[in-house]
Amino acid sequence: MTSSRSAALFERAQKLIPGGVNSPVRAFRAVGGTPRFVQRAQGAYFWDADGRRYIDYIGSWGPMILGHGHPAVLEAVQKAMLDGFSYGAPTEREVEMAEEIVKLVPSIEMVRLVSSGTEATMSVIRLARGATGRSKIIKFEGCYHGHSDALLVKAGSGLATFGSPTSAGVPPEVVQHTLVLEYNHLAQLEEAFSLHGREIACLMIEPICGNMNFVRASVPFIQRCRELCTQYGALLVFDEVMTGFRVALGGAQSIYALSIPGFKPDLTALGKVIGGGMPMAAFGGTRAVMEQLAPLGGVYQAGTLSGNPIATACGLATLREIQKPGFYAALAERTRSLATGLTQAASQAGVPFCADSEGGMFGFFLLDALPQNYAQVMKTDSPAFNRFFHAMLDSGVYYAPALYEAGFVSAAHTAGDIAATVAAAAQFFAQLPAQTRA
Ligand SMILES: *Cc1c(COP(=O)(O)O)cnc(C)c1O
Repeated sequence: MTSSRSAALFERAQKLIPGGVNSPVRAFRAVGGTPRFVQRAQGAYFWDADGRRYIDYIGSWGPMILGHGHPAVLEAVQKAMLDGFSYGAPTEREVEMAEEIVKLVPSIEMVRLVSSGTEATMSVIRLARGATGRSKIIKFEGCYHGHSDALLVKAGSGLATFGSPTSAGVPPEVVQHTLVLEYNHLAQLEEAFSLHGREIACLMIEPICGNMNFVRASVPFIQRCRELCTQYGALLVFDEVMTGFRVALGGAQSIYALSIPGFKPDLTALGKVIGGGMPMAAFGGTRAVMEQLAPLGGVYQAGTLSGNPIATACGLATLREIQKPGFYAALAERTRSLATGLTQAASQAGVPFCADSEGGMFGFFLLDALPQNYAQVMKTDSPAFNRFFHAMLDSGVYYAPALYEAGFVSAAHTAGDIAATVAAAAQFFAQLPAQTRA
């Protein structure tokens, strides 16, 4: 490995960039080894600096739902580039983008474009606080909402207590208003509202959580979140930065609306797929709340590159492709075939394993049953996951380099890619020493 170009680049990078990367998970700290430096990507694959090909199940952590280098998206971006990179003045494509979002996500009546998911979630919290005149927010352990100060929090001791920072540099005073609860824990949710309900500005949740691998909020849990928010005048915020346009065209909220009649969150954060691989994100919701934003209202929010013309071209072209008939049915079927294929391969070898998927997003666990919260996810045998990760990597299959991350299938993944992936996993499971099997 030390003679590889990736290793040489990693060495150079580490001299100048903290940890050698511009986002921590890329450094392979959780799994060990040398991160692959990417040279180029096409369709379902990328090639590393040493010319090795990988089946890509990260897709830039979600955005690349069409696969890399989709011709319609490439064309839209190339065309947009010729007209200039950024103006800092409004454009027609921003209006088209807003029209598409409002059409596809019925809970969104007005929307603002920003440049990253972190910006979207951070801004949505300010908006919720501004609109309600309240300070406290609720989040759930294991959900990731970007890296703004108030959201880098873990649960305190005791039930329904305010959290403590998960990062150095976040003063305790900044998170003193953030209440951290256990995901899918109804009794704790009730208690939090009965203790603090009238002070809560918003409850923010990843409805299908992709930042603790893949964990669904139960329908009764989401229903109770909605009821309690309404009862206490708090805003329900769905962080769909990952799930938006990924698990379904209407996002996770459209899936919950199938079981909870009339269900809508008050506010939604979007990102990842919406930019098709370019830096773009958005937040939106009811007109009454969105009108509190500057320049109409008193909640300030701004961005030099917001609604960037290249990003909107890329995002719009992506949104147009995913609206073609049958897109999600085919994507969901392919993703499901990966989840069931891996589960069968593990079961034949007697290895504890389970998997779940929705649309083009999946998760798998070296556990007997699907976890319901962060603590259960973290019961995964982490050395076993790391061995699995590296065995797959060596066979040219690129999964997320951490056991608490979700995976993504794109429209470019073929049945052959899935079969090759399952075969590589089966080979790994079969050679495990018998004592590590169930
Ligand atoms: C990725 C992600 C974010 C942060 O988005 P960035 O673009 O990385 O800032 C926020 N929330 C969720 C649910 C995410 O998956």
